Amino acid sequence: MDWWCRAGLEAVGSFSTPVMPCEVKPRFLLLYGSQRGQAKSIAEEISDQSVEHGFVADICCLSQGDRYNLERETAPVVVVVSTTGDGDPPDTAIKFVKGIKTRTLPSDHFAHLRYALLALGDTNYTNFCNCGKTIDSRLQELGAKHFYATGHADDGVGLELVVDPWIEGLWEAVKKALAEMSASNQERPERAAAVQNGELGSSHKENTEATVKDLKIQLLRVNEEEQSPESPRTAPEREGAGSSPAALEPSLTHSLPPLSESTLNVPALPPPYIGVKLLDIATEQNNDPPSNGSFHQVHISKAAELTREDAVKRALLLELDISEQQISYKPGDSFDVLCPNNEDEVEALLQRLGLEEQKNFTVQLQLRTDTKKKAAQIPSYIPESSTLQYLLTWCLEIRSVPKKAFLRALVDHTTDAAERRRLQELCSKQGSADYNRFVRDPSLCLLDLLRAFASCSPPLSLLVEHLPKLQPRSYSAASSSLCHPGKLHFVFNVVEFPACLERPVARRGVCTGWLSNLVSPLLQPRGTSEGPSGSASAPSLPKVFVSLRPNTTFHLPSDPAVPFIMVGPGTGVSPFIGFLQHREKQRQENLDSVFGETWLFFGCRHKDREFLFREELEGFVASGTLTHLKVCFSRDRPAGAEPEPKYVQDNLLLHSQRVADILLKKGGCFYVCGDAKNMAKDVNDALTEIVGKELQVDKLEAMKTLAGLREERRYLQDIWS
Ligand code: FAD
Repeated sequence: MDWWCRAGLEAVGSFSTPVMPCEVKPRFLLLYGSQRGQAKSIAEEISDQSVEHGFVADICCLSQGDRYNLERETAPVVVVVSTTGDGDPPDTAIKFVKGIKTRTLPSDHFAHLRYALLALGDTNYTNFCNCGKTIDSRLQELGAKHFYATGHADDGVGLELVVDPWIEGLWEAVKKALAEMSASNQERPERAAAVQNGELGSSHKENTEATVKDLKIQLLRVNEEEQSPESPRTAPEREGAGSSPAALEPSLTHSLPPLSESTLNVPALPPPYIGVKLLDIATEQNNDPPSNGSFHQVHISKAAELTREDAVKRALLLELDISEQQISYKPGDSFDVLCPNNEDEVEALLQRLGLEEQKNFTVQLQLRTDTKKKAAQIPSYIPESSTLQYLLTWCLEIRSVPKKAFLRALVDHTTDAAERRRLQELCSKQGSADYNRFVRDPSLCLLDLLRAFASCSPPLSLLVEHLPKLQPRSYSAASSSLCHPGKLHFVFNVVEFPACLERPVARRGVCTGWLSNLVSPLLQPRGTSEGPSGSASAPSLPKVFVSLRPNTTFHLPSDPAVPFIMVGPGTGVSPFIGFLQHREKQRQENLDSVFGETWLFFGCRHKDREFLFREELEGFVASGTLTHLKVCFSRDRPAGAEPEPKYVQDNLLLHSQRVADILLKKGGCFYVCGDAKNMAKDVNDALTEIVGKELQVDKLEAMKTLAGLREERRYLQDIWS
């Protein structure tokens, strides 16, 4: 038996029946670290494709340390890992990262390892792909070698732009790595003893070469004739020849040459793996969200409008009564809220799928015995015996933007030829720009597609296979328990998706839309937020399920004498209200202690409409808790007046010397919270400029200084998009 066969046998674990050597394929280890399921689903995609390419992917989560052993690994290793929070590893990778960072490991600890790494991240955040980069550099430090260049995929522009070509190139690299590792194992008897390697079997080699040629991409030419006569997109229209204005512009449902005439590379059909039965049996379905025990049900005891009715973005403050729960938080922590999908959208989806009559039927899920999907599993987040309505309300993110693989799967459930062609275009390589423009950028969801593609009628199983888990939403605590014992405050903007061509109806964010409806009966008008809280025992108070999400670093300096700067425009001010409440109490209770100076940079559009916590902040200034409050209003620009700073970063630059002094001379801290898309980057740029100017160094040196401050946990971010 040759080495390849043995490696394959390792992959599949214990066989109860003998397996013919030639049936066994070469193995590689496939590890993933996922927070929200993206890295996992990409790893599963790699695993599925590996079969077509003649390999066995031994897939496991980085957290399943008992299922793999890198110290003794003799096959190539592929790692797919995402980044979360402020460049942190996903929860499932924390232990792994900690493990490889152990300082006592020798520099040749992983000298035997050959690996490839696909890092997922988002350039809207400053620490792009940080977890992947950390793992990558640490593996290198410990002697491991790449067999394929690292991919850095950016969710800010579309992961698939990097992921798809990276996977495409992976197979040839795995093949080469396997061959090289086999050869080196032959040269190194100690490792050879471990793997009992032999000659590379020629039959396997040929086999693999053949399968590598067996591309995942199907070349698909859809001819003009394929269009049905009743197709809404006729030939002249596609050529754009003197027809309606719609024909001159591409849209979600219409394309123009060259795309409409192009040969398309569409992804292979994702193998179906779930069977769904709807049973007409009585199920006692409560309407509580599925929860793993870490969530607590709490009352919303107060809700207040923080913005004026004509504000561009509406902000609400909610107070949760946590007095009866074991929730102990510190300012700087966040917590997760479980939210349901919008009721009307669930209803519309049921109707569109023709399942309205069965909404109270019990859903029974089974793995298809004939599935070709590797490591297929029933999603663990779908409770047994839930009703169809419950499944769509609490389990699946029906608002998620359908991935290309989903579009590809929808093609096979669409009867109209023109609609099929357009769906194929949207998931094809050639149609990537159209996918971004008409699906991704406007954040379309399945319902939008089903409305636009009338002949598409997917089975329920496809939704279970392709819609991700409905995720809880996180919010930063905007209070201190020293100031509000038994209470937890948070602030949010109600997210609005305006109507557009692809989505004719405006809608609101899943969680913020739901919360704002939920609290509308107890909403206090602006300026009355200090009114009485509702009692938790009052039956009419709405309830939510929440779970603490502690932040390991984003907290007040442990030494109160350390000065600090906070930058929090809009709802980014939330954690700083908690900081300042906490500090105010500390000052009252420790009159002899020394407290460092505190700065807050706040900004919003209009002073009179969106200045959140204005009275409270001015109170902190009056009491001396907040030493400097620097505000700016981007849309209040009186003509002819002295130019004023427009954004928080402008204000920072205006106080450049003081900022530099606190950070570089006084050992102070710098906190940023809020919008990750623009603000956090602009603030980072301003800080780079400030450091460069004050230290008289070039940009690169200034960036290094900031990196050092990050390392020392003195430059901290809590940002979201
Ligand atoms: P969703 O339905 O999830 O929609 C939001 C998504 O749509 C976002 O990806 C956004 O980029 C996109 N989007 C928004 N508007 C549009 C548009 N017009 N067109 C197209 N796409 C659009 N939020 C707060 O308000 N306050 C906080 O204190 C807070 N703290 C957070 C702390 C952490 C650690 C994290 C990770 C996030 C935090 N957030 C906070 C963000 C919050 O978790 C939610 O993402 C936010 O409230 C939106 O949730 P939603 O369900 O209403 O919106």
